[in-house]
Amino acid sequence: MRVEDVKSSQQAIALENKHGAHNYHPLPAVLKKGEGVFVWDVEDKKYYDFLSAYSAVNQGHCHPRIVGAMTKQAETITLTSRAFHNNVLGVFEKYATEYFNFDKLLPMNTGAEAVETAIKICRKWAYEKKGIAETEAQIVVFENNFHGRTTTIISFSNDEGARKNFGPYTPGFIKIAYDDSESLEKVLKENKNIAGVLVEPIQGEAGVYTPQDSFIPEVKRLCNENEVLFMADEIQTGIARTGALLAVCGKCDCQGHCERQETYSRPDLLILGKALSGGAYPVSAVLADDTVMEVIQPGQHGSTFGGNPVAAAVAMEALEVVRDEKLAQNARELGELFRAELNTYIENSTIVNLVRGRGLLNAIVINDSEDSSTAWDICVALKENGLLAKPTHGNIIRFAPPLVINKEELMDCISIIKKTLKEFEK
Ligand SMILES: *Cc1c(COP(=O)(O)O)cnc(C)c1O
Repeated sequence: MRVEDVKSSQQAIALENKHGAHNYHPLPAVLKKGEGVFVWDVEDKKYYDFLSAYSAVNQGHCHPRIVGAMTKQAETITLTSRAFHNNVLGVFEKYATEYFNFDKLLPMNTGAEAVETAIKICRKWAYEKKGIAETEAQIVVFENNFHGRTTTIISFSNDEGARKNFGPYTPGFIKIAYDDSESLEKVLKENKNIAGVLVEPIQGEAGVYTPQDSFIPEVKRLCNENEVLFMADEIQTGIARTGALLAVCGKCDCQGHCERQETYSRPDLLILGKALSGGAYPVSAVLADDTVMEVIQPGQHGSTFGGNPVAAAVAMEALEVVRDEKLAQNARELGELFRAELNTYIENSTIVNLVRGRGLLNAIVINDSEDSSTAWDICVALKENGLLAKPTHGNIIRFAPPLVINKEELMDCISIIKKTLKEFEK
């Protein structure tokens, strides 16, 4: 059977159901093509993409510059492994470290791998630099976190579905309430074996849970005071999504030179993935300064594909596009418009309680119980009306279009969303 033989969405879904593991529950949309903010299904129906592959496709689907960089490199050399050097990796590392203003970058592929990398660097730093007794290091994490799917990462998740029957779990994590810097202060005072704090500046998977403006700067300050590493997981929030280059930039517009901004909560370990490649290829990375990164020496960490020439070429182009097309600025301006419009709508709504978010990472909270199907049903209706979004945590719908969306398109999407919600008003 060939891909051209797939004639209907139903057929494609049946194939996946029969031959694939059932580890996802997708909306019944079978996509075959993407361009900018649009995707098309097998029946040629056109949709606005309001998920952007969980914010991997910030630069828009099949961005010609990113695809161009990828195909050009793919025709030349794709993989050398790190047993040898390649002529692209160093150029990418120079580019990205200047872009984000860190001394060094460690390349991986998926987000979860980058989080694992940060955890390993943090622990090693704790033993070799901070002087914590071996195997005693603790990392503080937050309730309702999402950092990926590896055994260690799900060990500190409190999502039952992600955890149950995957034990025994990796020890060494202390979980406290999110957006609660007093709890963090307390745990840092009481426990002298804390190596780092791992935090999402906005909890995307938890439902775009947006903390108070003071929370991340407080985390940063407390980390500094207590000599623990501040690790920011910006896999979903980073690379212009929230209206700044990074969510830890706060509300500034420094395009990657945040060190000049008072509002910038500079991480000790910055974790990136997703939009680092514009969705073209799996690329992730951890950035840090030498004092931290130097704890990793040859043979101590790595990945066959990490830092391969295709990944490096794609990531460089993807970052360049973010800057050239001023995507952070667009996300900030259109995000404000989006929330203002939806806030006006919910004044008279019985079905939507709340809209929240920053930049173009937003969500609405549906006025129904977490185990109700209302949010799912709304997403199915949105699909019928030409817009793809996905519920997260039962009664929350995330809205995260590619950042290349323009004002006219966004207004069109807002009217689709309002029209659809009206079908559900009581
Ligand atoms: C998606 C995501 C990850 C995991 O990335 P994968 O590429 O799926 O492994 C980790 N942290 C956050 C905040 C994410 O949104």
